[in-house]
Parts: sequence; structure tokens; C-alpha cells
Amino acid sequence: MSPISASSLAGALLRQEVLDLHAYHVPDSSGCIKLDAMENPYPLPQALRDEIAGAVAAAAINRYPDPGAAALREKIRRVTGLPQGMEVLLGNGSDELIQLLAMAANKPGATLLSVEPSFVMYKMIAAFTGMRYVGVPLAKDYSLDLTATLAAIKREQPALVFLAYPNNPTGNLFAAEAVAQIIEAAPGLVVVDEAYYAFASDSFIPQLARYPNLLVMRTFSKLGMAGLRLGFLAGNTAWLEQLEKLRLPYNVGVLPQLVAGILLDHHEVLLRQAEQIRQERTRLYRQLEEIAAVRVYPSEANFLLLRVANATAVFEGLKRRGVLIKNLNGGHPMLADCLRVTVGTPDENMKFITALKETIIQLA
Ligand code: PMP
Repeated sequence: MSPISASSLAGALLRQEVLDLHAYHVPDSSGCIKLDAMENPYPLPQALRDEIAGAVAAAAINRYPDPGAAALREKIRRVTGLPQGMEVLLGNGSDELIQLLAMAANKPGATLLSVEPSFVMYKMIAAFTGMRYVGVPLAKDYSLDLTATLAAIKREQPALVFLAYPNNPTGNLFAAEAVAQIIEAAPGLVVVDEAYYAFASDSFIPQLARYPNLLVMRTFSKLGMAGLRLGFLAGNTAWLEQLEKLRLPYNVGVLPQLVAGILLDHHEVLLRQAEQIRQERTRLYRQLEEIAAVRVYPSEANFLLLRVANATAVFEGLKRRGVLIKNLNGGHPMLADCLRVTVGTPDENMKFITALKETIIQLA
């Protein structure tokens, strides 16, 4: 047997930033009503499933995918209504694009700035690409603290700014005027992350031509394609041509290209589901508002943020009753006693509300 263990070798050889990280935790959800990950809960119509099955059966999976995914990119341009002169760059989920942007912008000492609480991968990717990270606290109501953010931009001169629009995990849409001021003040690239665009009332896509330092990032994960892993960056070709050099040659496989292409040909099916989710969000919000022990926050996404005493015990009580949501308590000081629930089907939401009421009564 070797005298050196694999763990001491890994500890000695790997970068300290990597050793210090905690892996992104995905809990076991088997047997649960799954309201933890902002997925679209609705299945596809049978005719569309059959069309996908036929296309997949005929797909040449022995071949590498189209490296440029030209057909899929064209469909994305069409359904997104991209302004003239703008292009898209595809990622294996938008997570991959955050990483690609960090790798591209990471000159020695370069800073990635975001607000907090927001999507945890901005900070995590900064850590593992070795970028400096600055997180500017949001205001108490989770709106942008514009004064503090502009001051931090001036002080830190970030190469890269990420703003989730709507924000995760708070669900709110920042004031467009404040976002515009941040884009104008930033010396570097500002990425408006529109992961939840399908549920929101505004977008920065129409503003792309106006700001040379703006890119908009989107994902199809929340619209009903989480399993395909497909995200994109939209923006000026001058940026995308450079970033394209860092994209691994075949990052979007044959099957995701094919199936996403078919789904985008039936975009209206997904948009109808998104509309159903928005309507359910309103109903769920009202039901949560009626529970005295719960404070629920306004959302333009497919999830709701709530605050309740003993959040971790509530989370565990829900889990015991077969409902998995996201426990945010302990993740960030501004998220003390916060939980996040994805909007599910009417039946799932009803079961969640019933389990929540039971849990609160039991804990009282
Ligand atoms: N941005 C935001 C704001 C998110 O909430 C998420 C997913 N939780 C992502 C990006 C990543 O999505 P994906 O990698 O599935 O495209």
C-alpha cells in the first residue's frame, strides 16, 4: 500500500480556494413533492413527447454535435426577439456561462461584484476561478441599495458585475432605472441575469444596443428544460466573438440541441405553462398572506420567498410531510428564518399549504 493517502495528496496539490469550497449541495428529493429548484412542474403534451421520441430515435448520437449549434441559435434569436446586430452564445446551463465570463475577465486582481443575497454561484465561481469577490448588501426590503452599489463600483472598479433580474432567492425585480444607473457607472461588463424572464414583467434585451458594456444572460431551465441544460448570453458580437474562444467545442450535446429546437418550435406550449405558473404564483401568494405566522414577499419569478419563525424546523416538518422546499436560513444574515418555495401545480401547492399549516400548528 502507498504510504501517502489520496486525501493528503489532494490537500497538498490542489488550490486553497478549491479546498475551502463547499460543493453545491443538491438534497435527495426521492418520493417528495419537489418545490426546491424552480422547475416547471407541468409535463409536455403527449403529441409533443411523441415528436421528441421520434426525433431522438433518429438522432446521430455517434457523431459530435454541430459545434456552433447554428439551427438552435437561430431559433433562440427568433423566440427571444433579439435586436439587430446581437448574437447568442450557448452554455451547458447558464452556470457554465458565469464560469466562462469569470475566466475571460479574470486579469490579475480583477473583481467580480454582485449584490447580496443573490444567486450563490456568482460568489462560488469567483472563488474557484480565483477572482476577487465583492458582495454589496441589498436594502432591507431586498431592493437595490443604489447609493451603496454605486459607491462600491467606484471603489472596487469591478471587471464584472452580475445582477439577477428578477433576483434569486428574493424573487423581486430590481428597479430598472437603478439597474440602468449601475450599467452606466460600471467600468466593466454588466451581466443582467434573466433566468426568470418568463415570469417577469421586464427585460433588458431591448436595451442591449444602448449599452456597450451590457450582456443579458438567460436560461431555459425554468421554462421547462432544466434537464436539457441550456442557457445563453445575448449581446454584441464584439463580446461574444471573444467569449466564444473559451467555450468548449461541444458544450451543448446532440440531444439538448435537438430537443430544445423542437420545444422552441412549440414555444407557445411553454409560454402557456409559464402563464399558468404566474397565475398559480398569485394564488399561492394570497394563501400564504393569509397565514398569520408567515411573511411572504412579492415575486416576479416562479418561486416565493417567505419568512417564518423557526424556519429550519418548519423546513424539516414540511420534509417529513413529503414536501421539499429550500431552506435559506443560515445561508446569509439577511435570509435568517427564510424559506423559498417553487410554484408547483395547483395540487402540489395545495399540499404544500396544508403541510405548512400543519407544521406551524405543531410547532406552536
Ligand atoms: N441564474 C440564476 C439567477 C439562477 O437562479 C439560476 C438557477 N438557480 C441560474 C442562473 C442557473 O441556471 P442554469 O444553470 O440551470 O441555466
